[in-house]
Amino acid sequence: MIGVVANEAEHRVVVEFFELFKTPWEFHRPGTHYDILICSNSMVPENNARLLFLYGTQRQAFEECRSIRTISASRHDFVSFRGERMPIYGSCLLFNSPGNEVLIHERTKSAAVVSVASGDQMVVRVGFDLFEEVRYLLTQGQPAEFASIPTLDLHLSLLCELIVSCGVPLVEILPTPAEHHFIVCLTHDIDHPRVRNHKCDRTMFGFLYRAMAGSIINFCRGRRSLRQVALNWKAALSLPLVFAGLAKDFWNQLDRYLELESDLASTFFVIPTKGDAGVDSHGRTRTKRASRYALADITDDLNKLLSTNCEIAVHGIDAWRDSAKGREERRRIQEITGTADIGVRMHWLYFNSQASLSLEKAGFSYDSTVGYNETIGYRAGTAQVFKNPDVDHLLELPLHIMDTALFYPSYMNLSDEQAGAAILPLIENATRFGGVLTINWHDRSLGPERLWADFYLGLIDELKSRGAWFPTASEAISWFRKRRSAVIEGVIHEGDSVRMKISVDEDEGNLPGLRVRVHKARSTNDRIRPRREYAEVTVNRSSEINVSLS
Ligand SMILES: [Zn+2]
Repeated sequence: MIGVVANEAEHRVVVEFFELFKTPWEFHRPGTHYDILICSNSMVPENNARLLFLYGTQRQAFEECRSIRTISASRHDFVSFRGERMPIYGSCLLFNSPGNEVLIHERTKSAAVVSVASGDQMVVRVGFDLFEEVRYLLTQGQPAEFASIPTLDLHLSLLCELIVSCGVPLVEILPTPAEHHFIVCLTHDIDHPRVRNHKCDRTMFGFLYRAMAGSIINFCRGRRSLRQVALNWKAALSLPLVFAGLAKDFWNQLDRYLELESDLASTFFVIPTKGDAGVDSHGRTRTKRASRYALADITDDLNKLLSTNCEIAVHGIDAWRDSAKGREERRRIQEITGTADIGVRMHWLYFNSQASLSLEKAGFSYDSTVGYNETIGYRAGTAQVFKNPDVDHLLELPLHIMDTALFYPSYMNLSDEQAGAAILPLIENATRFGGVLTINWHDRSLGPERLWADFYLGLIDELKSRGAWFPTASEAISWFRKRRSAVIEGVIHEGDSVRMKISVDEDEGNLPGLRVRVHKARSTNDRIRPRREYAEVTVNRSSEINVSLS
């Protein structure tokens, strides 16, 4: 059991941190024995913990008593955790003390962690403020330049590594569903479901330019095949017939999505109001943001979705800043779905520090806006579903990969090959850390002039071959709620086996089970890692389990 000492202001962040690092813990109660005690910027209470963590950026008694010299590093600096770069967003205290090389400050090569054995206790002094880092990631998010780093998942991995390598065993429930390596949420924002809604507007002229001139330019750069150029020209020339209702609307790609994803689930975010551009964070209205379709225009599509295993959610306009408008946006889509719980993603990813509160007040079950328009990666530093510490119920399904970020000339502007290479580290991180990889492929992206279907198909095949589970966004959220409901109690180590009681809320659906992992403690003298570092058991309902480590 971990005991945590933190000041009142940090409590909500601490609670959320331990929903992500799902291991037995509680706030420190005087007189209770803890195997591990974590002190964040606070006085160290009397204790007999085997492992004591001292986090904080100010000098503490620990270094005073040992005459360890320290220097303060500036904010937004990098440390290296076993060769991997990890940004620290607050300041960082560095120690002039040999011995611990697990976390090295990149610029000065000084240690950001010091471990000292003191009697039966191992003391680990960490020179940053863990819970402030977590708060920053979950509420502000990383700047786009550090998007590729799963910073929060690295913090979790670092703490786990420090505990196990100090000779203390650890039990956790992984953010990974049983029988899978990670989760993938395939999502589609419905922004432009029909080209015929854009007769002679700037969207249509933009399309014509990109389909005709743009295709030729991209052909010359080797980014388009002759077949693709022909498809785009054919589509452009067919426009008058599409407007007359005599040719297929080539932006309506729903059937194609249903075919490609026939054995998978996916989620479609639908804009509830036509012609409403909403207001951005500066109070400006950008007319271009208004949708040109009404729900009545896509009744056929909605009915098709309702008859499959797909989910319909809200692609919100003003919900992020106005909970009354959010309630109305939610009501309009819930009239179609008839479901009690519904999620939201804001159109153009409009969001600010108050947005989670507003969306919660509007009655949404989850949001999936926290991502980047201009790049791919981890705004909150994690692939896990999380809760902003300031709200009570709304969960966040972070968004990681958006087609437009990969291919738009003003964003990453990648070729298919480059895009594949850019996504690969995210897939590898998902395999290492678990969590969910959320992908947004827009409604019209399979059709002319984008023609991003081949890439999308290749990506899905790759994810399937890596053992991902493909639920709807709501199902992924439900699975994480089930994990959040789990409590591990009464962990007893007996020789080479570990007994414990797990209680978990029953789910009505057929959600995959939870993976309970018991990490073997490593002897601090072990240079070589043991052959088997952990054992796992799958749990689906409240039960007593016995995990054998031999
Ligand atoms: Zn949108």
